[in-house]
Amino acid sequence: MNSSYEHIVIGVGGIGSAAAHWIARRGGKRVLALEQFELGHWRGASEDHSRIIRHAYHTADYASLTRAAYEHVRDLEEATGMDLIKVTGGLNLAPNDSAGNAEIGGYAHSLAEQGHAYEVMDGAELAARWPQWHVGRETVALYQADSGLLDIRRANSAHISRARALGVTFRDRSPARGIAAAADSVEVRTDDEVYRARTLTICAGSWTDTLLADLGVRVPLVLTQEQVSYFAAPDLRPFAPGRFPVWIFHGAVFDGEETSFYGFPVYGEAGVKLGRDVSGRFVTQQTRSFEPSAAQTAENAQFLKRYLPGAAGPELVSKTCVYDLTPDRNFVIDTVPGYPHVALCVGAGHAAKFAALLGHIMADLAIDGGTGYGIGTWRLDRPALTDPGFPTDFRMANAAQAQRHNPWETA
Ligand SMILES: Cc1cc2nc3c(=O)[nH]c(=O)nc-3n(C[C@H](O)[C@H](O)[C@H](O)COP(=O)(O)OP(=O)(O)OC[C@H]3O[C@@H](n4cnc5c(N)ncnc54)[C@H](O)[C@@H]3O)c2cc1C
Repeated sequence: MNSSYEHIVIGVGGIGSAAAHWIARRGGKRVLALEQFELGHWRGASEDHSRIIRHAYHTADYASLTRAAYEHVRDLEEATGMDLIKVTGGLNLAPNDSAGNAEIGGYAHSLAEQGHAYEVMDGAELAARWPQWHVGRETVALYQADSGLLDIRRANSAHISRARALGVTFRDRSPARGIAAAADSVEVRTDDEVYRARTLTICAGSWTDTLLADLGVRVPLVLTQEQVSYFAAPDLRPFAPGRFPVWIFHGAVFDGEETSFYGFPVYGEAGVKLGRDVSGRFVTQQTRSFEPSAAQTAENAQFLKRYLPGAAGPELVSKTCVYDLTPDRNFVIDTVPGYPHVALCVGAGHAAKFAALLGHIMADLAIDGGTGYGIGTWRLDRPALTDPGFPTDFRMANAAQAQRHNPWETA
């Protein structure tokens, strides 16, 4: 078996499949992509029907890249003839007296800064436009028309298909067991082979740390077991994509604490989908289970009863998944110190919308050793990843903007 390649990618999830595609597209020859499970498996973070894609983001670092994120998916649609984004419009909503209100203020700030149009309304206006929502008048809602859902499962398949067509070799059911890096090459050991290459791209998601140990690097990832549930609403039509936007509800109080939920119109499964962001179920790869928790299903159902009663119905299906959280909930995109030909990317539980773009960025790092996209914030040596005392904060909020006298103050 030919075990010598120019480029190796470990992990064929949302980001790895895009990286394999883009390395070949950028002229990389002899590209190998290793996946520990079968291609398209459901054990990672990129295999459900839908993920939210949006311009409404909490900091300029992300907001300045969302246009490119959309363009990269549109480019993939063009190359495959597949529909991958369904634009539904998107709502960010929160009770006025919650921290969620300030969070949304940060989103408005970024949208204005990036020149995206948006509308702000109170609970009464919201209910007039989307009577599916039962919220108090004392609610703030931000609507952005370009938001929608990304069919992450189809996008992965599209990236793999394009990569194959460009000559990439995929070895699935081939877990990388070890990495040995030299000054200008790298070896990756699997159960039955040692592969050599000039560059290595690690897109292993919540398994990243297991692989990095060989390189003397550690990313302090926190894994949480997340769960989404689909409910068989008595009448699904009001929740159809053309009638019901994707949404994020900031500052919903459950068990006495403010938390965020997010949801989708009917897509993939014949049910209304929602989940809580950062469930608080801290796990390891060994302790995570694939069995949905009745408590999380009940919490999701309770959210519907409270705010979207028309969507409340029997559970159709629930799915578990794992977040790979960094202490500041920011991505990690960098080369490994001492090994500029070894790069890694971690999506911190919010990267599906960026996966196609991140694949391009990882290809730039492999091919050119650098990229024109702004990734400086997501370095490996930042305090959040190097200072054990760094205050962990998993909320996707712009703390600086939120602390302003008026968080809604736009640019
Ligand atoms: C419930 C949930 C909801 C989400 N909602 C959104 C959303 O609405 N919008 C959004 O943008 N993002 C969302 N995200 C985040 C997004 O899905 C992830 O950030 C993204 O999918 C991560 O992609 P990945 O390629 O890094 O990880 P994964 O898809 O997990 O891929 C990593 C791959 O590496 C493989 N691997 C690991 N170790 C090895 C090894 N040693 N050898 C070989 N292969 C290996 C794994 O098997 C896996 O296939 C959500 C995530 C979850 C869990």
